Amino acid sequence: MSLTEIVDAGHEQVSYFVDDETGLRAIVGIHDTHLGPGLGGTRFYDYESDEAALQDVLRLSSAMTYKAAAADLPFGGGKAVIVGDPETMKSEALLEAYGRAIETLGGRYVASVDMNTTIEDMDVVARETDYVAGTSDGLGDPSPITARGALASIETCAEHVYGDASLADLDVLVQGIGKVGRSLAADLIERGAAVTVSDVDDVAVDRFVGETGAEAIAPEAVYGEPCDVFVPCAIGGVVNDETLPELSCDIVVGVANNVLEERRHAAALQERGILYAPDYVVNAGGLITVAKEYLGGTREGAYEDAEAIGDRLRTMIERAESRGTTVLEAADAYVEARISDADTIPPIPPESVSDLPSG
Ligand code: NAD
Repeated sequence: MSLTEIVDAGHEQVSYFVDDETGLRAIVGIHDTHLGPGLGGTRFYDYESDEAALQDVLRLSSAMTYKAAAADLPFGGGKAVIVGDPETMKSEALLEAYGRAIETLGGRYVASVDMNTTIEDMDVVARETDYVAGTSDGLGDPSPITARGALASIETCAEHVYGDASLADLDVLVQGIGKVGRSLAADLIERGAAVTVSDVDDVAVDRFVGETGAEAIAPEAVYGEPCDVFVPCAIGGVVNDETLPELSCDIVVGVANNVLEERRHAAALQERGILYAPDYVVNAGGLITVAKEYLGGTREGAYEDAEAIGDRLRTMIERAESRGTTVLEAADAYVEARISDADTIPPIPPESVSDLPSG
């Protein structure tokens, strides 16, 4: 990847950190800070090449800009990758070196957990920098809060499609009953929805069905199963050229990241009369939790902010309808307007400015 390609990707800053003593090699991508510091997870992954790591960090950090802005958070988009096998390379010394690296960015990037990093890891990073969230004295598991935002989104979609936000007697199909999916499925049942679940983990399915009385179907039968609302909570790319003709639902509300294999699938869903609520709007509850923690808020406050996702989604659906676009395009436009309305990029956050020597 050439420097020109990196510049063309639109990032404000991409930093490469090396610490020979601990083996640390990390890339931090800061995509956009017009709305605040870049907030996003740190992924620890054994990439095939540095190029693959760089591409991942560029892609993931720009996605964070959209997620944070669509959630009305005072944060921009950032993401980091630590390159290497977490099984063999992760050590306290390496994580401390990573913390010192983050500290040099002066608060333009705020780290949190992602694939192969844990709350305990963030505790170690926090020994060296304050620019970290998702530590053990934080707000706890974000998954039920993500589920709450998704529930509010489903209600908004139901209101739009059926003229009533009530979920009573709606057939809802939840794909994946991991941390978010099972919490959401339980919330849906509580609201009176007829819930069907599906997961590749048979033990998890049996347990959930035993506890709640939900229906279950095999993972391969999901796409052809008629339902009112299809809720992907497992993997990305589930709406694609193969599955699209099979889908027999009115609404797709994605919690999994990258529900659509490609952007054009948003228009394809719309052509089939299926309302698609963009995943990055719906699943922002996790990011909201981390942001709340960093700003010193409470878990209750995070639940309230996640509820508000439903209102923002309503605005986006209405704008899409009045402008004749997809909801995905309306969501992107919402984000881009927030960013262009923002003041100029703050050079460094205020708390760092106050630490600078005067004169
Ligand atoms: P998880 O790993 O706890 O659960 C995922 C579940 O999906 C597992 O039970 C797994 O067995 C199942 N699964 C995997 N492949 C499947 C398949 N082909 N068919 C059916 N089930 C399958 O993950 P999670 O934290 O619940 O997150 C779910 C999705 O939501 C992920 O894509 C994640 O990136 C996204 N997400 C999660 C959060 C959060 O707060 N946890 C926030 C934003 C986005």
